Amino acid sequence: MIYGMINILHLLFRLISHPLKVAMQKLFYVYLLITIASSLVAKADSLPGQFTLTRDSDREWTASYCFDIAVNAFEFERPMSGNMRQDYWQVTNDLFELQYEDINQESAAIIQRKDGAVFRCTSISMQTYTDLPEKNYLAFSTFSDGGVTVYTGYFSGSVKINSNWQKTELTAQYVPLTGNNILARDIHSLDPQYIYFGPQKSVERDGSITVIDPAIPSTAREMILSTMPQVNIEIGTLFGAVQSTPFIVLMAGGELQSVSGISMKAGVQKNQVAYTLKGKGIIKIANKNPSWFAKHAAHEVIHLWQGEVWNNLGEDHPRMHEGSADALAYEFMHRRGFYTEEQYQKVWQKAESKCTALLEKSSIHEGPSNGNFDIVYQCGAIVNRLAGALVNPSNPGQGIWTFWGRMAERQKNNQNSSESEQLFFEALSSFDVKPDKQTALQRFLERKPEDPASALGTLKQALGISAAN
Ligand SMILES: [Zn+2]
Repeated sequence: MIYGMINILHLLFRLISHPLKVAMQKLFYVYLLITIASSLVAKADSLPGQFTLTRDSDREWTASYCFDIAVNAFEFERPMSGNMRQDYWQVTNDLFELQYEDINQESAAIIQRKDGAVFRCTSISMQTYTDLPEKNYLAFSTFSDGGVTVYTGYFSGSVKINSNWQKTELTAQYVPLTGNNILARDIHSLDPQYIYFGPQKSVERDGSITVIDPAIPSTAREMILSTMPQVNIEIGTLFGAVQSTPFIVLMAGGELQSVSGISMKAGVQKNQVAYTLKGKGIIKIANKNPSWFAKHAAHEVIHLWQGEVWNNLGEDHPRMHEGSADALAYEFMHRRGFYTEEQYQKVWQKAESKCTALLEKSSIHEGPSNGNFDIVYQCGAIVNRLAGALVNPSNPGQGIWTFWGRMAERQKNNQNSSESEQLFFEALSSFDVKPDKQTALQRFLERKPEDPASALGTLKQALGISAAN
C-alpha cells in the first residue's frame, strides 16, 4: 500500500492523457469532417443528458445517467489506477455490466447491457475510495466531521451510438445527505471539479471560499491560507495575468490519524484547490516545520496560474508543469523570506541529489510511464534551474523568474507551439541560448545516463554554467 513508506507528496496529479487515444479521437473527428456527408457531422456534437450523484449514506453513493437518446454504451474515460472501478463500483441492475480497458497501468471502464441492447438510463452504486492514484486525482477525500470531497472527472465520459463514440454534455445534480450542504464551482455541471458534500457551510477567508476540516492542525491551515494570496501576488505579477477570483479552497483531513506516514496532495481545477492531508506525520510537521506547508501551497497555486496562462502545459511532458511549479515555489519561498539563505541552498542541493538518484531508474521523459513519477518534480526543477543559470549566470534563481516571465509573455503574444516542451526551448532561443546547448539539454531530458551525477556535471560544462549552479 501506498502508505507503507513515508510519502512526502504535495502532488497535483493532472491527468496524463492517454496520447494514443486522444490522437485516435482527433483522427476520428477529422475523418468524420472530411469524408462523411455534412448531415452526419452532427454526430460529433455532444449528447445531452442528466447526471445525478447522490450520497446515500456515509460511504455509499449512486451515480445515475439518463441520455437524451438511447445509446449502446457509456465509457468512463478518465483512467484510474488501483481497483476503484473494479472493486468499489457495482451496476445497480443485473441487466448491465462494467468492463475495463487497460491504459498504461491504469484503466477506463465501459457500462453496457449484457444483451447488447440500447438503453437511455443506467446507474452505478459505489463506495468511498480514498487510495492515492500515482498519477491522477484522488477520487474521494474524507473529512473528520463526515464531509467528503468528490472529484467529478471520474464520472464523465463518452457514449457509443451504433459504432460511433460521441462526447456527452450532461446537466448535473448533486444530492447530499439530509441536512448536509454542497459546495461546487458549478453545481449544475459535470465539468471536472471538486464537489464538497458535508455538514459544513463554506467560510470566506482571504479572498477564498473555504471548507476546512477541523482536524487539520491550525498552524498548517494558517500557513496554507496565508501563503495562497502571497503567491497570487508574486506569480500573478510574474505572469502578468489576472486570475478570476474568488477560488474555492477545500482541506480534508479525515485520514490524519488512521494512516501512517505523511502525505499532502492537492488537486487543482479551475478556481479550485482541494487539499488532502493524510498521516500522523502531518501533525508533527505542523508543530516543527510549518513552512513545509507554505511550499506545498505555493506549488499548487502556481498550478492555478499555469492553468490561467496555458491550456495544456505539461500534457506532453509533466516535468513542464511539475518541475516549474517546484522551481518557482522554491524561488517564491526565498523571495518571501520563508527560507533562510541556508535553507534555500539546501532545497536546491536536495533536488539535485534526488534528481541524480532518480535518473538511475529512467530518463526524465520516461519517468511517468516507468513508475518513476517523482523524477518530473526533482529533475524537472533542476532543468528549470539550469535554464535559470543560462538566462542569468550570476543569479540562477532570478534567471528562473525571468525565464517564466518570458514564457508567459510569449504565450500571451501567441508565440506558442502546441507542445509545451517546445515552448520551453523556444523561450530559451529568445534568450539567445545556442542550439548546441539546447541539444545538450534535450539529450539530458531524453536519456537515462550511465552515471547520472557525472552526466549532470558534463551537461553543466556543455551549458557553460558553473558546477555550483
Ligand atoms: Zn504539482
